[in-house]
Amino acid sequence: MTDQDIGDGTRAVRAGLPEPVKYEPTLPGPVFAAHFHLPGEPTGPYTYGRDENPTWTRLERAIGELEAPGEDVETLVFASGMAAISAVLLSQLKAGDTVVLPADGYQALPLLHEQLQAYGIQVRTAPTGADAQLSVLDGAGLLWIESPSNPGLDVCDIRRLVQRAHSVGTLVAVDNTLATPLGQRPLALGADFSVASDTKGMTGHGDILLGHVTCRDSRRAAEVRRWRKIVGAIPGPMEAWLAHRSLATLQLRIDRQCSTALLLARVLAERDDVTGLRYPGLPGDPSHAVASQQMRRFGPVVSFELADRKRAERFLEELRFVDDATSFGGVRSSAERRGRWGGDAVTEGFIRFSVGAEDPEDLIGDVLRALDKAGSAG
Ligand SMILES: *Cc1c(COP(=O)(O)O)cnc(C)c1O
Repeated sequence: MTDQDIGDGTRAVRAGLPEPVKYEPTLPGPVFAAHFHLPGEPTGPYTYGRDENPTWTRLERAIGELEAPGEDVETLVFASGMAAISAVLLSQLKAGDTVVLPADGYQALPLLHEQLQAYGIQVRTAPTGADAQLSVLDGAGLLWIESPSNPGLDVCDIRRLVQRAHSVGTLVAVDNTLATPLGQRPLALGADFSVASDTKGMTGHGDILLGHVTCRDSRRAAEVRRWRKIVGAIPGPMEAWLAHRSLATLQLRIDRQCSTALLLARVLAERDDVTGLRYPGLPGDPSHAVASQQMRRFGPVVSFELADRKRAERFLEELRFVDDATSFGGVRSSAERRGRWGGDAVTEGFIRFSVGAEDPEDLIGDVLRALDKAGSAG
């Protein structure tokens, strides 16, 4: 049996574990060290805590095994998703280069957009849907994809975009936060970088900020590593260890979240008071055909619209098993009125709903009751 043949659950529980050592734990605890004993020549693997840490090494191996089973890839962990994203963009681009960003990507991307421009990098944007980024690729050094997009849940054909980008010498990075490597493997779709905020579904408990970059090319990896060293956006050993521990349940969590998300989407599709429903796993969703070609699981996020701001706020207040909170991918369901942040192009009644690990009957019952209550309010 090769590494490619084993199932996702088996891979997740064993990912990144060291060879068994008598009297040692299965997953050794976090190594708290600013520096390591280092007599003589200062060669690695462990010299100084900003450069390397054995707890990161194990987590990086684990993530690499999930991103590209059986392949030789390099993964670097970061203090947050934004640290990982910035590391790729800022290590790969220089003044005079052009980058293509999604127009409907994560809400902090516009800040990066401004920063890149301030550094003399030309930025073009186009929406994720209908592969619109294809039309602005000419001469770009890097294409940044976010699919499914957050919070609109549009999907682009990653293979198609990669093929075109590579044919004109453009590198491709995919923000894979929403799908996680169990939902989508950007490197297998041809991308040069798979990047994610592991704050979300990857760690799944809403208690850690973390990010990672995985790539095949060791020269590119060295550039990203150098950036991490310069900026120092490194995760603490405790966070890295908690993340590794959380990966063991990744398949359990994601499978539960995705199956309940589909049930919820089906139920919401029947309601007159719900419009603009989006879930890539829902047959009939505008993203479904392309998503089915490149995704193995469709993610925990369902989005929809209620009539107006008041109705949406009332709905969120009425929910008993769902936290009114931002972020997504956690074991506890959360939802928010996305318009409250002001950054996304969404209507006042737009809800981003993240499905947790609750019993589906409880969760769906709660949502239906809250919708009824929100609708009956005077
Ligand atoms: C949350 C998120 C980020 C940023 O991650 P942090 O860990 O909060 O820095 C980036 N991209 C997407 C798609 C996200 O959802």
